[in-house]
Amino acid sequence: MKPMRVRFAPSPTGVPHIGNTRTALFDWLLAKKSGGQFIVRIEDTDRKRYDKKSLDKILEILEFLGLDWDEGPKVDGPHQPYFQTQRLKKYQKIAAQLVEKGAAYYCFCSQERLDKLRKKQKEAGKIPRYDRHCFSLSKKEIEEKKKQGNYVIRLKMPDDRVYQWHDLIQGEIKINSKELDDQILLKSDGYPTYHLAVVVDDYEMNITHIIRGVEWISSTPKHMAIYEAMKWKMPAIMHLPLILGSDKSKLSKRHGAKSILDYKKEGYLKEALINFMVYLGWSYKDNSQLLSLEELVKIFNYENIQKQNCIFDQKKLDWFNGQYIRMKSDEELIKLLKPFTPRDDKKLMARIVPLIKERITTLSEFSQLAGFFFARPKVDLALFEKLDYRHYLKSAAGVLQSIESWKEGTITGALMHLIDKNHWKVGDFFMTIRIAVADSRYTPPINDSIAILGKKETLARIKMLF
Ligand code: GLU
Repeated sequence: MKPMRVRFAPSPTGVPHIGNTRTALFDWLLAKKSGGQFIVRIEDTDRKRYDKKSLDKILEILEFLGLDWDEGPKVDGPHQPYFQTQRLKKYQKIAAQLVEKGAAYYCFCSQERLDKLRKKQKEAGKIPRYDRHCFSLSKKEIEEKKKQGNYVIRLKMPDDRVYQWHDLIQGEIKINSKELDDQILLKSDGYPTYHLAVVVDDYEMNITHIIRGVEWISSTPKHMAIYEAMKWKMPAIMHLPLILGSDKSKLSKRHGAKSILDYKKEGYLKEALINFMVYLGWSYKDNSQLLSLEELVKIFNYENIQKQNCIFDQKKLDWFNGQYIRMKSDEELIKLLKPFTPRDDKKLMARIVPLIKERITTLSEFSQLAGFFFARPKVDLALFEKLDYRHYLKSAAGVLQSIESWKEGTITGALMHLIDKNHWKVGDFFMTIRIAVADSRYTPPINDSIAILGKKETLARIKMLF
């Protein structure tokens, strides 16, 4: 396998959602696997949609997941700058060359004219596209109009030409140029559009493989036209399958398509997120193997990326997360839980963590399950439902009071004796204790929990209720 130079080229228009980050992961894996480079390039030329906070979030996501980049923001590299707005001259130069070669032309049409044209075409049931009004202007006319400023440069797409290429994931693809508009390459403010900038940069940065979402397929012929006109070799290309929500519609926020940072906040581990994302399109065995980044670097390949759409299955992500939580040592888990604990108390955590490790799916569930260790909850009496809780609690308090060695074993022994003697239902009795100390019907093993809470605190909580 030859070293691959691949790039992740996010547009800083918001916080990228998980689908976008999957592209970065696949890029990174292929770069590492082939002994090549992973390049991060910021495609920030769309100033209308530019979001100042976006860049930091994009980089924070990559850093959190451990997807380090060889070239790009912060680290720079031989092709710097890696921000397209700092490369404007390069695009302007190439746009001018394309005009000289007859592959692009100046367009002076006003927005008003374009709007009218669009409207007319739509009314006539046609696909709106530019009518090449400015294509046949004479050199003189062009020079005159250029003096007045305000022009764009458009790509001249061939009239009837089938663009065909081999996509490493999608296979043979054919698109007729008839379906494509004369794309604006350079805007009137001198900024390039995505189509020009992406081609210039992929070429200049020696990218060998373009990996991007399937939604970019229809742009590829436009890019091919530029490569051809410039006589540049086009990188190999692969379009990743679309990610669908469980209802088979395009994945959106409604399906849980959040950003990696949202998942982090909810207590998903990076290992689980990586493992989950890798199966969004790629297959290995039964698609549920737990695979670390290191293992993935060894086995990942683009041949096993499918072209069919894939489904975002939140349950699978939860399952991975639970698995990875259980694989952590108690010490590691205590560290990871730090942002989710009410108070930094290592001693207390060392006792709680073994009890909850098997019971949480996300780190944020910790406070729900174990918050009662940190503060006395206000018990919702409705939780007791039909339980004769006063009776149970009074007797329990008497027995607990007499325990001298406050340990799980002695507590269990004493309480079981009490239950047997009274012929109570074990479940009812312990449910009562659970609610009394934790204000919840679902807790870690209750006798272990009250052993941790301590005699004084346990009795105080129980006595408050009768
Ligand atoms: N800037 C584009 C995006 O935000 C990159 C598309 C590509 O990889 O060519 O998705």
